[in-house]
Amino acid sequence: MRSEAQVPLLEVERLRVEFPTRRGALLALDEVSFSIAAGEILGVVGESGAGKSLTGAAIIGLIEPPGRIAGGEIRLDGRRIDNLPPAEMRRVRGRQIGAIFQDPLTSLNPLYTVGHQLVQTIRTHLPLSALQARERAIDLLRQTGIPAPEARIDQYPHQFSGGMRQRVVIALALAAEPRLIVADEPTTALDVSIQAQIIFLLKRLAREHHAAVMLVTHDMGVIAEACDRVAVMYAGRIVEIGPVQQVIHQPAHPYTRGLMGSIPAMDEDRERLAQIDGTMPRLNAIPTGCAFHPRCACVMPRCPQQRPELMEAGATRAACWLLAEGAV
Ligand code: SF4
Repeated sequence: MRSEAQVPLLEVERLRVEFPTRRGALLALDEVSFSIAAGEILGVVGESGAGKSLTGAAIIGLIEPPGRIAGGEIRLDGRRIDNLPPAEMRRVRGRQIGAIFQDPLTSLNPLYTVGHQLVQTIRTHLPLSALQARERAIDLLRQTGIPAPEARIDQYPHQFSGGMRQRVVIALALAAEPRLIVADEPTTALDVSIQAQIIFLLKRLAREHHAAVMLVTHDMGVIAEACDRVAVMYAGRIVEIGPVQQVIHQPAHPYTRGLMGSIPAMDEDRERLAQIDGTMPRLNAIPTGCAFHPRCACVMPRCPQQRPELMEAGATRAACWLLAEGAV
């Protein structure tokens, strides 16, 4: 249950993203709606191709052309950001949204020290002197758990290990005190013990900086450790959304139940989700009705014909006809 204080910071409403092709537009995100409050971590989970990274890319204004937002709205702090001119969106992205990607090297320039990159980002967005910005950079490195930040600030990205580099990226993402952090598979390339530390760090930062965090991952174990709520995506739609404990312990959607079979302990290797028979459909071959029906063990006659919308399922909401039948 969300309190009064948790007014949504990010609101995504009926978001549609399409890719034009010679044979017509392919719908990659179809009426995706959710919100995230300040201080809250929303996990977005699903197999590869479900649309989770694309949702993150739409929010930060970095959908790769020819993909485009074809409908819906994205609001940050009540202000619409999906229709801003590119230069204005760049400012919003730098100042109000911090992005963290799987590979830290995509966010860091190998030619400059991490201190130079941090100070530049800080001074682009905050009215600080060079000295003040350097102090802030050292403080951010300390907050993200980099030992001896006064010395390490003058080192280059290649002098950091993978886990330490991802901490630098998190420091960089926080440099302008963003309201929203979009983290796309931030721990996937890291060792399991480092993953746990980065998750702990993201949680602490969400609380202390009151940032809203959208955490995109294919890994239900990461969701279980890190998130307050979780949205499960399948074939470009949200099929279940709710508080993480309910979704994990009482999943209402058969696809979510399949994903749940994949939560290993934090100390196990977790390269893949558990097996759900079949694969995510291609964009040009999304099944009719409930897109999950060819893979669903509970499929009923109406499933291939009618598409279920999200329905109340206890504390969560799920798009499955079993709920209408009272079978969950
Ligand atoms: Fe399975 Fe039907 Fe529910 Fe889709 S709507 S998940 S096919 S039972």
